[in-house]
Amino acid sequence: MPKFNVAIMSVVSPRSFAYCTGAGLSGLAFGIGLQKYAPDIDFEIYEAATQLSEIGAGVGIQQRTWTIMQAMGIEEDLLKITEHGEDCSYPIVQRKSDQAEGVEVHRIQNMERNYSFHRAELQKVYLAKLRPRQVHVGKRLASYTQPEDGTGPIELQFEDGTTATCDFLFGCDGVRSRVRAVMYSQLAERAEAAGNAEEAAELRALIPPLFSGGVVHRCLIRKETLPAEAVGHPAFNHPGIVLYGGKNMHLITYPISSGRILNVGAGISFPGKEGVPYQGPWTRPVGREEIVKYFEGWEPDVQEVLKYVDGGILWAIHVTGKLPTYIDGQVALVGDAAHAMMHHLGSGSGQCYEDAWMLAQFLGHANITKENASVALRVYDEIRRPFAQRVADLSIRAAELHHFNGPELAWLTPELSATGTAMTDEQLKGIGEGTERIRAWRDHSSLIEENAAAMRRMDEALAAAA
Ligand SMILES: Cc1cc2nc3c(=O)[nH]c(=O)nc-3n(C[C@H](O)[C@H](O)[C@H](O)COP(=O)(O)OP(=O)(O)OC[C@H]3O[C@@H](n4cnc5c(N)ncnc54)[C@H](O)[C@@H]3O)c2cc1C
Repeated sequence: MPKFNVAIMSVVSPRSFAYCTGAGLSGLAFGIGLQKYAPDIDFEIYEAATQLSEIGAGVGIQQRTWTIMQAMGIEEDLLKITEHGEDCSYPIVQRKSDQAEGVEVHRIQNMERNYSFHRAELQKVYLAKLRPRQVHVGKRLASYTQPEDGTGPIELQFEDGTTATCDFLFGCDGVRSRVRAVMYSQLAERAEAAGNAEEAAELRALIPPLFSGGVVHRCLIRKETLPAEAVGHPAFNHPGIVLYGGKNMHLITYPISSGRILNVGAGISFPGKEGVPYQGPWTRPVGREEIVKYFEGWEPDVQEVLKYVDGGILWAIHVTGKLPTYIDGQVALVGDAAHAMMHHLGSGSGQCYEDAWMLAQFLGHANITKENASVALRVYDEIRRPFAQRVADLSIRAAELHHFNGPELAWLTPELSATGTAMTDEQLKGIGEGTERIRAWRDHSSLIEENAAAMRRMDEALAAAA
């Protein structure tokens, strides 16, 4: 039974919180977390889209993140929509493929399990866990106003002209976050008012997402549509990830939807374009020809996969700049709004879940009240911001390794790379081992221990604030 039974957005209860914006992976996971850890906190999710639908493609969840799924009680439901049961620690096969005859660079034998999902199926499971009345669709946040003295409710203004109030606002609204835009405008205004024009300019520069310099074409191949000769082809039969890499490009494949679908991602980087505004829509449908032309001359397995790609969706990958804070008063940024990162490490959503899990547990702390909940936000920022920003940096390094880039391979042109003889065995080994090392933190860290330390830090901070 909830401690209080309060009206939607009401502030009558000292433990009434409202929570807002974005029913993406972060928003839904945070809602599930609040239901579990803070059942006496009221929350509402406001989602801009009129209908909740994920653009279909694969998303991986690694063992570290799986800990959260277990703790939140959704493991069983998720196991029903992935083929991977207990044994899902398949090696990642890394190849150099931008040459007539490809070579295996490395087999990443880490024991990290990787659970692969179709995003739409994942979202369906999360939604089923939330009580439907808590997700309001068609509610695009335009702005918010929070009282300067930190007392009293925040007013939310939606684009449809309606308003609502809440005690705390969590911006789970993705890389183009409106909450971040409002927060950083307000921080900049305050810096200006204090005479710090340079700081104000730096804060404003963090509002828009930044083009990462890379795009990815995300495609799905339904195995039932494959002719018999393709079904038996090795390119379609590795149970885990195959990473076909080359200069400035890669093709990644892994099965999703219990093995019925092969997820294919074709990533291209455009060196020198990092941070340069991207021209054109950030996502758009692409035809097969547009994808295939990048991979001319690549090894036969890549051609085999591409033969059955029937177009896909292009994503221009945008990231969030390195923010100096995730919080302002009673408002916090969560997930991609705080730290959208490159996709090469497959850690973006993991970091979203880590935010959501920590915040839900902090807000569910027995000693939290509406009056001291800002302490939870402060500790969240103190722990999660440096961590997520480090993972974002590792994701940039992973992109370099996948695309045979980075300072050590600046000399390698696409033409040289295509000869297949420009790199020594030692250099190839260096790329493979580097790729393995960069993933090792997930495998060799314990989220359970980190979580226990975070809870201890929260106890200390609450005691100090008492
Ligand atoms: C191509 C690609 C591949 C990826 N692959 C992986 C992977 O394999 N593994 C992995 O862990 N991560 C991966 N990621 C990252 C992962 O998808 C993201 O980190 C994650 O989806 C972010 O979730 P989110 O809920 O924070 O944001 P989003 O999913 O963007 O959700 C934000 C929500 O907020 C809503 N919204 C936006 N503005 C407003 C507003 N003003 N008011 C109200 N609602 C609003 C949106 O409609 C949306 O529903 C990938 C990302 C990309 C782009």
